[in-house]
Amino acid sequence: MIAYPDSARFSAVPKTNALYAIRIAVLPLVFAVVISLFGVMNAGADDPPQLEDPAQPAAPPQPAEAAQPAETPQPMAPADPAAAAPAAAAAQLPKDFRGDGFYLSWIKVIACWLVFLLWVKTTDWVSTDGQEFKQDFIRWNPIVFGTFFGAFLLTWIIPFFWLAFPLLLLAYAVPLTVYIVQRNANLEHNQRVLTPEHLRFWAATRLNKMGMKIQAEKADPHETGPPVKVFAHGGPDEATNNARLLMARQSPGLRTAREILADSLASRASALMLDYTAQGATIRTMIDGVWIPRETRARDVADPALESLKLLCGLNPQDRQSRQEGAFAAEYESARLTAAFASQGTQTGERVLIQFEEKKIRIKSLDALGMRSKLKEELQQSLNAKQGFVLLSAPPGGGLRTTTDVVLQTCDRFTREFAAVEEESNRYEDVENVPVTTYKAADGQTPNNVLPKFFRTEPDVAVIRDLVNAETVSLMCEEIEDGRLMISTIRAKDCAEALLRGLALSVPPEGFARSITAVLSQRLIRKLCEDCKEPYAPAPQVLQQLGIPEGRVQAFYRPPQPNADEHREPCEKCGGIGYYERTAIFELLTVGDAVRRVLTENPKLEPLRQAARKDGMKSLQEEGILLVAKGVTSLPELMRVLKQ
Ligand SMILES: [Zn+2]
Repeated sequence: MIAYPDSARFSAVPKTNALYAIRIAVLPLVFAVVISLFGVMNAGADDPPQLEDPAQPAAPPQPAEAAQPAETPQPMAPADPAAAAPAAAAAQLPKDFRGDGFYLSWIKVIACWLVFLLWVKTTDWVSTDGQEFKQDFIRWNPIVFGTFFGAFLLTWIIPFFWLAFPLLLLAYAVPLTVYIVQRNANLEHNQRVLTPEHLRFWAATRLNKMGMKIQAEKADPHETGPPVKVFAHGGPDEATNNARLLMARQSPGLRTAREILADSLASRASALMLDYTAQGATIRTMIDGVWIPRETRARDVADPALESLKLLCGLNPQDRQSRQEGAFAAEYESARLTAAFASQGTQTGERVLIQFEEKKIRIKSLDALGMRSKLKEELQQSLNAKQGFVLLSAPPGGGLRTTTDVVLQTCDRFTREFAAVEEESNRYEDVENVPVTTYKAADGQTPNNVLPKFFRTEPDVAVIRDLVNAETVSLMCEEIEDGRLMISTIRAKDCAEALLRGLALSVPPEGFARSITAVLSQRLIRKLCEDCKEPYAPAPQVLQQLGIPEGRVQAFYRPPQPNADEHREPCEKCGGIGYYERTAIFELLTVGDAVRRVLTENPKLEPLRQAARKDGMKSLQEEGILLVAKGVTSLPELMRVLKQ
């Protein structure tokens, strides 16, 4: 998407240069002095017609008067614009307004004044813009300043307004135009100004502010990423944050840092990693759980960018060795998010990890998570049972929190009493009608400290997500025998491992085997991009290996293959990655006799897996192959996910 700079960008460089101060303070003074001393811009030969007295149309032009100094012995008070008031009043006089020192044609004066104000504004812009985009502002400032200043003085000396005024306009417009033309030539498309796209953006943003909805930009994903606004976030107070932001803005690398951040956020990255070595800074972004390499930046641009980010986080930019941690905030597409920053020296240089705050994704149903309807029905049977133990599992970072939230959302929490136990510093998102009792791990507490009282409230369903010790599980198993349902979570790669990890807490196997009713395990898998996936015919032996009967599947799909003969623009939707967003594959074990027997007799991974299959479980691999056959994902992606 093209994003054009807005006014906020121009504030990135503080307006503290001397030229700015001179323009603001001195020029109005000069202006007033010149007016009073010369008073040349009089109502002479080229008087505006509306000021002429219609009764005396024959009044002859008096050009000589123009060059004469003021005849009045008491010229207008210099340096005080308020003195203009009587003169303005005099200009309204229909007759004899040239007398007594009121020489000025105020329409002309105001015309020049407006050009002057316009010039102050744009000259200041040239100064800040030149600094921000490194456009040799040392050279350009005197050019835009000096040319106009000279012409401005000339305007008061040249007796012919219609010669002097166009000269003034030219002296204003020509250097500015030349500056804009050369800066536009040096800069990237989205940084240019006064292009048709920029004007449209400019107009649209202003009209939108007034409540009119106009599309501010035309989408063009091949353009460089839109700018991101950054803010200091981690400081103890507002003043510290402001100081950090100012320091970062004054550092030269903030622009590059924002470019890198914008590029990451535009590609939906959840994290960004920069590896600084002698050769350059390698950049990778985490997209849908996979590190994707981005362009490598040269050290002379990447180092200042890191310095800016460290300043923004209140860290020491000179320290490239110790571990430093901080935070900042960024605004991208009108949404503000926080980012955690960490840097650490490595053997080859320095590594920087920026983790963006996760977007809250509101998934409401198991279907939306990607669960097949058959599995869903089977799971709901276990969840609706009066008693039992349902264990939910996933590898770390595998979306367990989301799935558990959705499972609770889909449970009937209105005819049954739900209650949850959570650790105070690790609270989960509140689910309606699930009251939470907390314990404090920091004070050495475990769920056991609160469970006896908790169970006295007689919940039908107890949600104890973190199984921390054997006592907790044993207590839960006892309660199950009294006719309650327990829902718990555990970090594990598959159902068999989840069971073993439960046992590994030193729970008596018999009680555990008797209580456990269902285990759900999940893996997140990337979906092929619907805009660019390509069909291909899988080899017959591959189909055979996957256990797919011949003729059942016509085509598998994969990301677009690189083609040496043909240059293709990367896909707009996925940025050329070939995958877009993720879904989950589920393995659901409804525990039967086979698994119960193995749990008590031979609790090991392989025997448990075999027993699970005997009890009717489809493995993650089998569930994944279904997705490959449907064209939702690719075979290599499934292999990658199963290897985790
Ligand atoms: Zn695509």
